[in-house]
Amino acid sequence: MQQSKTPLRSICIVGGGSSGWMTAIYLNRVFNGDRVANGSSEVAPNIEIRLVESEDIAIIGVGEATVHSIRFFFAAMGLDEAELMRETNATFKTGIMFRNWRKPVNGQTHQYFHPFDHLKLGMDMDISSSWLQDARYTLERFDQGVSLSSHLIAAGRSPKTPQSEAYQGVVPYGYHLDAVKMARFLRRKAIEAGVIHQVATVKDVVVAAGNISEIVTDQGNFTADIFIDSTGFRGLLLDALKADNWQSFTDALPCNKAVAIQRELPAPPKPYTTATALSHGWVWEIDLADRQGTGYVYDGEKLSKEQAEQELRSYLGSDAAVLKCTHLDMKVGCRKEFWVGNCIAVGLAGGFIEPLESTGLHLINLGARLLSTHLAGEQQSQAVRDSYNRLMNGFYTDLKQFIVLHYCLTDRDDSEFWRAAAEKAQYCEGLPAQLACWQHKVCEYMDLAGTFSTTFTDENYRFVLYGMGHYPQLQRRFTTPQYESLFAKVQQQAKHAELSTIPLATYLQRYR
Ligand SMILES: Cc1cc2nc3c(=O)[nH]c(=O)nc-3n(C[C@H](O)[C@H](O)[C@H](O)COP(=O)(O)OP(=O)(O)OC[C@H]3O[C@@H](n4cnc5c(N)ncnc54)[C@H](O)[C@@H]3O)c2cc1C
Repeated sequence: MQQSKTPLRSICIVGGGSSGWMTAIYLNRVFNGDRVANGSSEVAPNIEIRLVESEDIAIIGVGEATVHSIRFFFAAMGLDEAELMRETNATFKTGIMFRNWRKPVNGQTHQYFHPFDHLKLGMDMDISSSWLQDARYTLERFDQGVSLSSHLIAAGRSPKTPQSEAYQGVVPYGYHLDAVKMARFLRRKAIEAGVIHQVATVKDVVVAAGNISEIVTDQGNFTADIFIDSTGFRGLLLDALKADNWQSFTDALPCNKAVAIQRELPAPPKPYTTATALSHGWVWEIDLADRQGTGYVYDGEKLSKEQAEQELRSYLGSDAAVLKCTHLDMKVGCRKEFWVGNCIAVGLAGGFIEPLESTGLHLINLGARLLSTHLAGEQQSQAVRDSYNRLMNGFYTDLKQFIVLHYCLTDRDDSEFWRAAAEKAQYCEGLPAQLACWQHKVCEYMDLAGTFSTTFTDENYRFVLYGMGHYPQLQRRFTTPQYESLFAKVQQQAKHAELSTIPLATYLQRYR
């Protein structure tokens, strides 16, 4: 494999879905930023960035919920938040409500909320240990004890106050946004910033000495120093460079199909995603400003397409005003090597893990940010590729474990799917031992230190562990517990947050 010694002059991205355009805008801003900031796209860029997309191959058109840190990536891309909200019919999201992931509790559907915020009100001990010591799980959900978002959603408030700046709120928040509108919006912003847009379909990929020398399209051939494969599940550029380059996660995560239904909003938009477990998977509900996206992610070995669609439709109810129904195949896993020769796969071409924690766009963020640092050197060496591959592999492997955590603590036994779900921890190295340990001690920061889990830390783990009833059995060994004042403070802060924030419906009016 050749080691490029010439400075990086050109990048060609193939694919015009979220991954292609997000990567294009970000890299363009990092490498050619001054030119754009000065509004002088006439000045030659440091690095020419071209994006090739086919008008005959549609984008996947799902991927409408995000994690909260995507705000910082959008800000780093130079996007104006109000414009983004308006152009993509977006709403705010402060967490995910999980329903039905365990058997009903006291006749009620099991439910817990995984918010983006976790209070840190240090007194004698951290607040989550206090919550356990006080045995508050007999009274309330964990999120109600330690998260402000939990109170804000109950009160129908947005995460914003009248004074909140762009991308700021009283609690962290992400978005629900229209995927197709998002791709169009990003395309416009990228072209305005000087990214070259080429509508063409790649017919062949020419490889020489372990690198892509050119791509052959129906509009001519294109060369570049670096190629980015954002062709979605096709992954056609990276596949041309290396065979046997895929690691499947289907042993741990068997859901390999989805049926997506867009419908009219059944009620005013909620500032959270809902993930309701059904017979062989789960359903997402994502409220945009003008419609709702739903979809059943299921195990296609156990359920036919027709059965899945039927189950989703009956879950939504006969009065659901359906706008569109689409069936999707999902390739679950990731590349062994995301970066081979002069080509890097970003987005679905690099890997995919079911969207239970809305991480697709986040993984693009991680991939693009790492690319900017890994491409900044004078030449691309194998050491740089190895570093990128090690980090991206780590992110996917850690995410796989976090998603498995949602399944393996279930007590549901009403289908083969759920009986098998309880056994899935074995496919994540070290997880069974950690789960055993977390029956006797809290899950804390150091338990996950040394992993790549920058996205989901001990705080996130606790929401799922306690949401699924996996509480450690602790003795009352702390000396001066002041639970009452601690949790009174939570109530006080929640009230204050509620009074200072704008109702969601009112806030969304700003973007109409
Ligand atoms: C069921 C499901 C639900 C999801 N939900 C979420 C979610 O809630 N949140 C989240 O963050 N992520 C989610 N994701 C992931 C998210 O959809 C993707 O990460 C995101 O849309 C990026 O897709 P992409 O750009 O990699 O691929 P695509 O959108 O598939 O785009 C591929 C592009 O490649 C182009 N292309 C393909 N072949 C050629 C060719 N030969 N020549 C030229 N161009 C070509 C196409 O024209 C297209 O422009 C979900 C994914 C699935 C499957």
